Amino acid sequence: MPPNRFLIEALLPLKELSKEARREKAIRHGHISTLHVWWARRPLVVARAAVLGALLTEEDGLDEKFIANLCRWEVHDGDPGGRYLLEQARTRIRNRYGRPPRVLDSFAGGGSIPLEALRLGAEAYAVEYNPVAYLVLKATLEYPQRYGHRLVQAVKTWGEWVLDRAREELAAFYPEADGETPIAYIWSRTIRCPNPACGAEIPLFRQFWLARKANKRVALKPLPDPVTRRVDFAIVEGRHMDFDPAQGTVSRGNAVCLVCNTSVRADYVKAEAQAGRMGHRLVAVVTTRGKGQGRNYPSSHLLGNRPSGACGGNARR
Ligand SMILES: [Zn+2]
Repeated sequence: MPPNRFLIEALLPLKELSKEARREKAIRHGHISTLHVWWARRPLVVARAAVLGALLTEEDGLDEKFIANLCRWEVHDGDPGGRYLLEQARTRIRNRYGRPPRVLDSFAGGGSIPLEALRLGAEAYAVEYNPVAYLVLKATLEYPQRYGHRLVQAVKTWGEWVLDRAREELAAFYPEADGETPIAYIWSRTIRCPNPACGAEIPLFRQFWLARKANKRVALKPLPDPVTRRVDFAIVEGRHMDFDPAQGTVSRGNAVCLVCNTSVRADYVKAEAQAGRMGHRLVAVVTTRGKGQGRNYPSSHLLGNRPSGACGGNARR
């Protein structure tokens, strides 16, 4: 008789799980990933399948179809259909162990595995060395159980408290103009061209793309002026550009001056930086008309085109 294998060894519907995991990645509202950034966060549906598959065996009478149904984002205790499926899984687990089994995740990170273990009625233990992840785990696994609905209002109240104070302190750096609010400032590091006949400021860019999506392509186009020996910038959009934005001014530490085309060795770039002679310059501002309205790169906000140093260290216009 073949050995009684765990479901994780025998029958996980990998294709359906992969598809569902991809779908879950795009879900933001109500997802624990919005609590705090955590790297390498695992999709909940996959964690659920892994925990279930590690607790139950072929003998427990579940099939791939049931697992695929159970391991979907929409399945949770707040939904009657979802709760019905979860109850079936919990009953199987209880019947097998006679009590809630203990599930230990010794590298718990963002907490997907212990959260799903709890959902399946197990007793979850999470261990984590990183203090950020530790706090994420507390807020994911422990506080909702301990404080219940009171937590919702507390998070809202204190979240707004933080937001109000942040707005007060930072508003001056994000001045609204024509309905557009700046949300990011793009800076470039700069060095002086070592060519004695030139001495232009070289903005150090690996590439000039600002947005590179199928439906939105925006780039900074450098405009070197051989007379004034300055590099200014234009913002260009569209599918066809008359230059290659992927071609920056730095590659493997070596730089090139856009005014005189002198190649600058990495050693020189490094030495200038170490001597404290590396400058910086604000070259573009990213703005938005509001949440969900996308990012804009208005030319009117193009701040790079002014004498070098004018923007030094201060993002205000
Ligand atoms: Zn030069």
